[in-house]
Amino acid sequence: MAYPDLAMIIDGERVSGGGRRTHLVVNPATGATLAELPLADAADLDRALETAQRGFRRWRDSTPHERAAVLQGAARLMLERQEDLARIATMEQGKPLAEARIEVLMNVGLFNFYAGEVFRLYGRTLVRPAGLRSTVTKEPVGPVAAFAPWNFPLGNPGRKLGAPIAAGCSVILKAAEEAPASALGVLQCLLDAGLPSEVAQAVFGVPDEVSRHLLGSPIIRKLSFTGSTVVGKHLAKLAADDCKRTTMELGGHGPVLVFDDVDVDQVLATMAPAKYRNAGQVCVSPTRFIVQEDVFERFRDGFVERAGKIVVGDGLDAETQMGPMANPRRPDAMERLIGDATRKGATLHTGGERIGNRGFFYKPSVLSEIPLDAEIMNEEPFGPIALINPFADEDAMIAEANRLPYGLAAYAWTSDAKRQRRIARAIESGMIGINTNMIGGADAPFGGVKWSGHGSEDGPEGVEACLVTKAVHEG
Ligand code: NAD
Repeated sequence: MAYPDLAMIIDGERVSGGGRRTHLVVNPATGATLAELPLADAADLDRALETAQRGFRRWRDSTPHERAAVLQGAARLMLERQEDLARIATMEQGKPLAEARIEVLMNVGLFNFYAGEVFRLYGRTLVRPAGLRSTVTKEPVGPVAAFAPWNFPLGNPGRKLGAPIAAGCSVILKAAEEAPASALGVLQCLLDAGLPSEVAQAVFGVPDEVSRHLLGSPIIRKLSFTGSTVVGKHLAKLAADDCKRTTMELGGHGPVLVFDDVDVDQVLATMAPAKYRNAGQVCVSPTRFIVQEDVFERFRDGFVERAGKIVVGDGLDAETQMGPMANPRRPDAMERLIGDATRKGATLHTGGERIGNRGFFYKPSVLSEIPLDAEIMNEEPFGPIALINPFADEDAMIAEANRLPYGLAAYAWTSDAKRQRRIARAIESGMIGINTNMIGGADAPFGGVKWSGHGSEDGPEGVEACLVTKAVHEG
């Protein structure tokens, strides 16, 4: 399957060429250029804004049936196009094909869930004396500017598009310039399913230019961003200047508490593959393994053994279990973080180096006994590195889990039912998996606390985040 030609989609038209600047999209498995992506200029963004305004006026009055038909139709089309979408995602982002196929299914599940939610955007009637009436209604917030990163090239755009469309908003999506064709493929499914072309558009550009332009416009009423905490804080400030609503899904540094009452092999069988999924470039990746002393050595040695057996290669090859990193910045960051940690006294058990000189491959790595002042213990590594440290007891393990300002996903493994409840209460995070790494689902809110952001995507909360409340009092 050939990689497609790229264009922005503005007011239903494919927009490219015309002397616009371009970005070269690269296959991270080979380093080869896949295509040239046109970047928006100010006039493109103004056109997208004016279109989004029209799109909002039209779509806010759409019926639940219309919204459901579009979402269900798009879900059907994504399923029909699953193989092509998955191959495009792997070509531009690098992940194994099997993981890209799952991203399509995540979108299918989410769109079908939202197709049901559109019938449940209830308000309420307040108790009032005869002759008076007070109602509370939910209305779509307005045109949304949505920024999606490259790590889930299909799933992130699906989230960013699905919720506003279900709520009756219009949306301008700026997906990652590094993985544009996947985002365009998801949007095309919505348009082919009958979404009016002014309701959802896709632009690309120099990220800072696009975000300043869109967030500087009074037309945009909501910012939805997924990406790093640093960029998220910057965008939240821009949004605050115009009191725009925000949903911020930012970085994490997932703690994993492993107590000494568990079946160590079972934990390893779940959490080692979870660590290396998408080469660790996952905001909810299990990162800091906080292991009770009695099982520490077995756990660490088992992890090292499993990491060493992972088949790394081009995501298009059927036997590949871990692909390349998505861009050249990631292996550079891995080298910096591992170098800093080992200089400060951490032990590197496996990995710690690039693979070959083609593409952006990095070996699955394991560090242990890492000092807490190492950068990697404080900064989201966003890569295939497991950090394993021993701790004496529950209090120390909880303290380490809550040490950082991040609070996205956390995991705990213990067979003690009372401890499970204590942990669930004590850990400061938006999501926690106890004896499981499955923390997402179309019906489940996905989001963090503290520096990991605010607001949720998915679940009823995802649509709710695109609605505002109005109280009407009639005398
Ligand atoms: P980055 O922080 O510059 O970019 C992250 C994403 O934000 C990209 O998609 C980028 O296009 C976008 N972005 C950057 N500046 C922007 C701006 N001013 N306006 C709008 N969008 C902007 O750097 P990166 O090298 O791509 O990634 C580095 C870090 O980002 C990772 O280490 C990780 O911590 C974080 N990240 C998080 C997620 C997530 O799912 N939460 C996804 C990708 C990256």
